[in-house]
Amino acid sequence: MPIIKTNCFILRGIKYKESSKIVTAYSQDYGKLSLLARGARRIKSKLGSGLDLFSYSEIIFYKRENREIYTVSNAEVIDPYSSIKNDMDKFNVASCISELIISLTPREHENEYIFDLLRKAFAYLDSAVEFDPQLLSIIFGFKLAVLLGYKPMLHSCVVCKNKTSTQNLYFSPSSGGIVCPDCTAEVRDRVKIDVDDVKYMEAFMGRTFESLGELRLSSVIKKKLGHLINRLLIEGSEKERNFCARYWV
Ligand SMILES: [Zn+2]
Repeated sequence: MPIIKTNCFILRGIKYKESSKIVTAYSQDYGKLSLLARGARRIKSKLGSGLDLFSYSEIIFYKRENREIYTVSNAEVIDPYSSIKNDMDKFNVASCISELIISLTPREHENEYIFDLLRKAFAYLDSAVEFDPQLLSIIFGFKLAVLLGYKPMLHSCVVCKNKTSTQNLYFSPSSGGIVCPDCTAEVRDRVKIDVDDVKYMEAFMGRTFESLGELRLSSVIKKKLGHLINRLLIEGSEKERNFCARYWV
């Protein structure tokens, strides 16, 4: 029974029996993991705060074959991200991010880019002073879409492949990008967008959280972009459910 040590973000904790909990974590070496923490809810638990929600921790667990849940034997906090735990807006954004990672990444599939995105998002969120929670959730959604392989095509029509103009633009989540006016009948869904929406989507995918921190958008634009990223992730992952209902639906 190999003993494994890895760093991870704690994304969800569910009470289990009288004093234990089952934790979903995203780890550096194994991607998404389900972990059983025996006695973790006891005051004197040696697991301490290492498995608290949104902590970044080094954990040790036993990896048994043919099991879906592994038992944690030790957890040490590397960064508690206290500010995320103590601020309602930050907590809600981190919950949205966790929901996306838990819903959209496969179990035990290492992905250094997703791990890195999570690290950057939590670090930014923890230190942010003034930020727009809804916008930050949308930015994270677009960045994650790229890493999951759902990056939208933004400069040519997804149907005819011709370069699109700056007018009469539509976005088709099911087809994964922009549709020109001549091809709208060819796609199952479409949302009217404008050239600024395209610029925002590009910026969300290409720029850092820090450089986007000052950006402020109207509630109408955020609603539209939130709808687009929700639909893009639903169509890309073929899941029949909405994501981040607090911000996007
Ligand atoms: Zn076209």
